[in-house]
Amino acid sequence: LIQLFRPLDMLGMVYRTVRQGLIDMAEMFRLIDTDAEVKDAPGAPALLIRKPTVAFDNVVFGYEQDRTILHGLSFEVPAGSHVAIVGPSGAGKSTIGRLLFRFYDPQEGRILIDGQDIAKVTQHSLREQIGIVPQDSVLFNDTIGYNIAYGRGGAGREQVIAAAQSAAIMPLIERLPEGLDTEVGERGLKLSGGEKQRVAIARTLVKDPPILLLDEATSALDSRTEQEILATLRRVSEHRTTLAIAHRLSTIADADKILVLEHGRLVESGHHTDLLRRKGLYAEMWDRQRAEKSDSG
Ligand code: ATP
Repeated sequence: LIQLFRPLDMLGMVYRTVRQGLIDMAEMFRLIDTDAEVKDAPGAPALLIRKPTVAFDNVVFGYEQDRTILHGLSFEVPAGSHVAIVGPSGAGKSTIGRLLFRFYDPQEGRILIDGQDIAKVTQHSLREQIGIVPQDSVLFNDTIGYNIAYGRGGAGREQVIAAAQSAAIMPLIERLPEGLDTEVGERGLKLSGGEKQRVAIARTLVKDPPILLLDEATSALDSRTEQEILATLRRVSEHRTTLAIAHRLSTIADADKILVLEHGRLVESGHHTDLLRRKGLYAEMWDRQRAEKSDSG
């Protein structure tokens, strides 16, 4: 009976935590094993990556027919580089992530990974190659080891330990009464926001994808935890093509390129210092965030 109820139990938990986050949707689709919006083309090949470049080519997209969210968006993320997407709330930042993971197909234009249109390859092969570190992770009512291994079916204990070490969560695990076998989640040990994020990072490391999608936490982590997690993320993304959706500009000042999005259009792009010099929307957002920080601190 327990076996029977477990999947339902997990699903209930996922639903309860559903917001607009990427991971929530990823887990939901995976658990209910259905995909309302997109289907694989018959005989679609697997995505084969030699050089993990990502490109949006004139992408037009809206969730509803009469409301366009992205208006012909084009940009490139060279293999191994780190690109951040910033912009006011509602500009379409998370939508870009959802399209890259192919929860939806664009109405016009193409999204290419290593030159292959992601609409023409299998969703499974696409999602296998993209790791998501979300704002708010879903933890299952299971052991912490299971939660980390979930990044890839069949991951061995050694792999899980190595990932936990790189994600800097091993010291915590070692202090737990049953180590990796300690139950976490709603009915087990409660983890803090920062710890949950580390589990998500470890999960991603087990998956070992060439492309990373980071959805920066908006939830308030204390600044020391935030700095530590940022340092871990930096290490993890070092050799991977990384697209980061950022809410706080201070975390992405060292990105190779920053895309500034407004109302679904790319209004500025470049390096942090170039963008400050332009005195446009980015510079304005930067000044505003600095003022808010000094007000609150
Ligand atoms: P934020 O910084 O607030 O997270 P964002 O730039 O990530 O914002 P998106 O989440 O991409 O913005 O949303 C862009 C627009 O699309 C918003 O106007 C939003 O209301 C709309 N939108 C998002 N998800 C859906 C959906 N599932 N159905 C209909 N409209 C949606």
